[in-house]
Amino acid sequence: MPSAVKCEVEECVYNDKLHCSAEAILVQTNGNAIVGTERGTLCATFSYQDLESKSN
Ligand code: SF4
Repeated sequence: MPSAVKCEVEECVYNDKLHCSAEAILVQTNGNAIVGTERGTLCATFSYQDLESKSN
């Protein structure tokens, strides 16, 4: 069953068909003093995967 957490970051190893497969995630501020929009946040659980080499 897909996770309730939808995510469009396909470059993350936890991304499974645009859903997050991690057991838990940590969302942090991106360093700005004031978080006024979604741009001020980031997923600290993100872990990069190279989609190019995965498809080969
Ligand atoms: S860990 Fe974060 S970036 Fe990776 S799929 Fe889950 S929500 Fe997306």
